[in-house]
Amino acid sequence: MKRVPLRRLALDAYRGISADDEMAEIGALAERLRGARVVHVNATAYGGGVAELLQSLVPLERGVGLDSQWWTISAPAVFFDATKRLHNALQGMPLDLSTTQRALLQSVARRQSPKLPAADVVVAHDPQVVALRHFNADGRPRWIWRCHIDLTTSHPSALALLLPYVQEHDAMVFTIEAFVPASVDRSRVRLIAPAIDPLSEKNVHLHDGVVAATLRRFDVDPRSPLLVQVARFDPWKDPLGVIDAFRIVRRRVPDAQLALVGGLADDDPEGVAYLERARAHAAGEPRVRILTNVDGVDARDVNAFQRAASVGILKSLREGFGLAVSESLWKGVPVVGGNAGGIALQITDGADGFLVADVAECADRCVRLLSDEGLRRRLGDAGRETVRRRFLVTRMLRDHLRLYADLVAPR
Ligand code: UDP
Repeated sequence: MKRVPLRRLALDAYRGISADDEMAEIGALAERLRGARVVHVNATAYGGGVAELLQSLVPLERGVGLDSQWWTISAPAVFFDATKRLHNALQGMPLDLSTTQRALLQSVARRQSPKLPAADVVVAHDPQVVALRHFNADGRPRWIWRCHIDLTTSHPSALALLLPYVQEHDAMVFTIEAFVPASVDRSRVRLIAPAIDPLSEKNVHLHDGVVAATLRRFDVDPRSPLLVQVARFDPWKDPLGVIDAFRIVRRRVPDAQLALVGGLADDDPEGVAYLERARAHAAGEPRVRILTNVDGVDARDVNAFQRAASVGILKSLREGFGLAVSESLWKGVPVVGGNAGGIALQITDGADGFLVADVAECADRCVRLLSDEGLRRRLGDAGRETVRRRFLVTRMLRDHLRLYADLVAPR
């Protein structure tokens, strides 16, 4: 187990951005929870949406007076290979786990769980840490399992492996109703959507000059229309489909450019191989730029790319949430998103972006947006409002505090 070092974030900084009644409720809940020890545990502190949201949620919990910590498990690479297979099966692929790999899921949890610090509440994020509860002898904390993935088409054998561990938790949090497995005890289920931090490096306002300079640094022309997908290189994010859609777009908008910005996450062993596939797929298409953290793309650069985009894309085939959608919408940029799980929660088709079923629809909606500045502005403005109302970190903080209070400080 490793503790992730974190500061405190002052809630006051969000006044004027988030709604007053939300801020007041957070204050009242924090009063009831003062000093409560909350331990968040997951697989990685770097890469992917879970790490992104814990980077703001945990410091904010600390800022309002909880004693919150964030820990990551330590495990060998073969463990993350096994959990990625489980993740893929939970999103619909057949489960391909050897007996040794199944045993590894248990042995890592058995070794790691006793190393958790004393807590009032433990929040275990995603399947990699679902078995910690089972191997924890300390009867005091209340346990929450937080599912960030899209379970709509789970392979039954993957669910059968997961659910006995899930059921041992005092509460389970899913993003939307459609992800809740039928056999889960509904009285312990909460629906909480993820959210973005408007004040993080990823989302804070940047001046146009900074945005243009960032693009030039990565050999992207700031004057030509730009499509941007920010996502890990992963089959579910369909970067190959985005490249195919872009080839169609180029026939109608010849000066268009596509940037695929995708960091490599610590717990995602498939990333490098899939990145190579994307590179090969884009060969011969000079207006596609493929960039990763290895090229030196940091959070502020991602921010700049999202701001520079005429259209944001997240063409996922399955999606737990897709923080990148709210990140673009918050910047006033409309998003063309795959009609899957958490993306459909953020985009209302035709209102703040478009939901698409395939490559042809993706290309068609991108062309429509690229050729109509008024439409882009209308959808982008509406998208920013959607995020302000529903997908800012203070709302997510409030929802978490409500749940902790119900578990450890009931009225
Ligand atoms: N991200 C990033 N750099 C990259 C690729 C992704 O910072 O090169 C961030 C992205 O901005 C978002 C998160 O990683 O905040 C991805 O979260 P999302 O929910 O979209 O997908 P996940 O990776 O969790 O499936």
